[in-house]
Amino acid sequence: MAKVLYEKDIQKEVLQEKKIAVVGYGSQGHAHAQNLRDSGYDVVIGLRPGKSQEKAEQDGFEVFSVAEAVSVADVVMVLLPDEQQQKVYYESIQANLKSGSAIAFAHGFNIHFSQVVPPLDVDVFLVAPKGPGHLVRRTYEEGAGVPALYGVFQDVTGNAKELALAYSQGIGAARAGVLETSFQEETETDLFGEQAVLCGGVTSLIKAGFETLTEAGYQPEVAYFECMHEMKLIVDLLYEGGLENMRYSISDTAQWGDFVSGPRVVNDETKARMKDVLTDIQKGEFAKGWILENQAGRPQFNAINAQENKHQIETVGRELRDLMPFVKNPLHGKQNKQK
Ligand code: NAD
Ligand code: MG
Ligand code: MG
Ligand code: MG
Ligand code: MG
Ligand code: MG
Repeated sequence: MAKVLYEKDIQKEVLQEKKIAVVGYGSQGHAHAQNLRDSGYDVVIGLRPGKSQEKAEQDGFEVFSVAEAVSVADVVMVLLPDEQQQKVYYESIQANLKSGSAIAFAHGFNIHFSQVVPPLDVDVFLVAPKGPGHLVRRTYEEGAGVPALYGVFQDVTGNAKELALAYSQGIGAARAGVLETSFQEETETDLFGEQAVLCGGVTSLIKAGFETLTEAGYQPEVAYFECMHEMKLIVDLLYEGGLENMRYSISDTAQWGDFVSGPRVVNDETKARMKDVLTDIQKGEFAKGWILENQAGRPQFNAINAQENKHQIETVGRELRDLMPFVKNPLHGKQNKQK
């Protein structure tokens, strides 16, 4: 079994006198920066001018340009969008990295696919939380944490692993469990998970279920509650106690339906498609396509996004959620209203 580490297994000293620059203040950036600060570390933020900068300043951080933040830091955590990292790295980071310092990532994409090639005199490590940034912050505040993977790509000081572990502890991940990985394993499994299961798999499953019901003449509101809203309630049970706990809570009728009909929907054919998705990731085909899409100005990304926001499950869902004040929607008032 893999060795999972917790707070008691981790030494903090190696990171204690160091200045940490968090570059980017988005989903992961705000969470890492605030958690590290609350854990007693010295954190500065590197950003370009804009909305994130205002937010970081409101949250009480010293905000520098990316180049300045890197030049004063002992540890640089790169929390820019993956598709921006290469450009910002070569424009503002590389020339300012101190010899013997460390550069770190929360996802291995740019190192693994050689979009960023760091100099030979710095440590390079990974701390990849296995959860959305906003939960990295929220769980930390609750005294809990989101688990994380850590890995070392380059160790020049002899301390890269200890730095990665102390960093994981600083963002609260060691409360939940920290697990060693490689940049390759983290990159490929993270891309696969979000594409086939967590994001792509789930959204496709929900939409297909909703469409099946509405095309058969059932009310869209009923289909929304059945296929989208209740998903969270079911997933909470899975999170808390696995398949067994979820099945304990549902009716035996539902459990029998799970056993006999689940494998009719997600079957060997589906698994073969999952293997295709994994192969494209392993061969670098997915990465190549995403890099080219960005170079072209994201024509397909934007078109599909606009189309998805107009799906009936979204228009119906917005109306129903507005009537459930206890459902806190962070996008409230900011969502596209197109029908
Ligand atoms: P994000 O889009 O939420 O935030 C990016 C930040 O970078 C913003 O503050 C933005 O203003 C800033 N930025 C963008 N372009 C910039 C530029 N040219 N110069 C300076 N600043 C710039 O990004 P994110 O989702 O937090 O992702 C950051 C990293 O974390 C990625 O490597 C991602 O794969 C990884 N990650 C994200 C999540 C997640 O929950 N979103 C989970 C695990 C790992
Ligand atoms: Mg995003
Ligand atoms: Mg992930
Ligand atoms: Mg990811
Ligand atoms: Mg039911
Ligand atoms: Mg039951």
